[in-house]
Amino acid sequence: MRPLIAGNWKMNGLVRQLAEVAAVASAVEIAPSSADILLCLPATLIARAVQVAAGRIALGGQDCSPDAAGAFTGDVSADMLIDVGATAVIVGHSERRRYHGETDVIVSTKAKAASRAGLLTIICIGETEAQKADGKTLSVCSDQIAGSMPDGMTLSATAIAHEPLWAIGSGRMPTPEEIVQVHACIRECLVARFGAEGKKVRILYGGSVKSTNAREILALPEVDGALVGGASLKAVDFDAIIRTAPMRA
Ligand code: PEP
Repeated sequence: MRPLIAGNWKMNGLVRQLAEVAAVASAVEIAPSSADILLCLPATLIARAVQVAAGRIALGGQDCSPDAAGAFTGDVSADMLIDVGATAVIVGHSERRRYHGETDVIVSTKAKAASRAGLLTIICIGETEAQKADGKTLSVCSDQIAGSMPDGMTLSATAIAHEPLWAIGSGRMPTPEEIVQVHACIRECLVARFGAEGKKVRILYGGSVKSTNAREILALPEVDGALVGGASLKAVDFDAIIRTAPMRA
C-alpha cells in the first residue's frame, strides 16, 4: 500500500506561512515522493493553500461537523471542506477528544459524514500513559476503533492514526516492537470486522515523528504512513520526513 504522510498544523499558521505549503509542493514536484503527501491546515488557510499547492500535494481539514449544514455556529461541514478543495480530514484527534469532549460516538458520526462526502478520513485513536502503564494499550485502541469507526465507510479512503497521547509533542515514542504490536492489533480488529476489505485501511503512526526517526518507523510492518504534528510546520523538516518513505505499491 502506498504510504500516506500527513501533516497536522493544528492551530498554527497565518497567510504568510503559505510559503511553507508552496515549498513542500515544489519539493514534491521536483522530486516526487513515494508517499501520498497531505497537509491538514486550519480551515482559514485551506482555500488559499489549494491554489498554492496546485494539485502537487493534497490539503485537508482537522475536524468536520457530523451535520451537513445548519445552526451550528463555528463548525465546518465536510461539504464545506470539499467546496474549498480539501480532499481529506482528520477526525477524533486526541486534542479534540480532550478539549472539546469528543467521545467515540461523536467521532464516529463525524467520520461517517466525512466519508459520505468523499473525503479521505483519518480517524485518530491512542492510549494515555496511564493506560499504557496498566497494560491496556491494545484494549483501549481496539475499543476506540470499534466505537469511532462507523459502518459503511469507504475503506480505501480511510486511515486509522495510532497516536499514543504521551508521545504527542513530547519527543518520546513507543519502541519499534510496541508500534508493531499495536498496529498488528489494529489490523486484526479491521480484518475481524470488515474481512479482507479491512486490509485496505491505512494505519498511520503519530507522535513525535521527526526526520531522525521516520525512516525506521515507516519501514515497520503495518505502518502505512505517519501523522506528523510539529515537524510538519516547516517545509524543510516535513520534506526530510517525506524523503524517508519506503517504496511500496
Ligand atoms: C499530532 O498531534 O497529531 C502529532 C503527531 O504531533 P507531534 O508530531 O508534534 O507529536
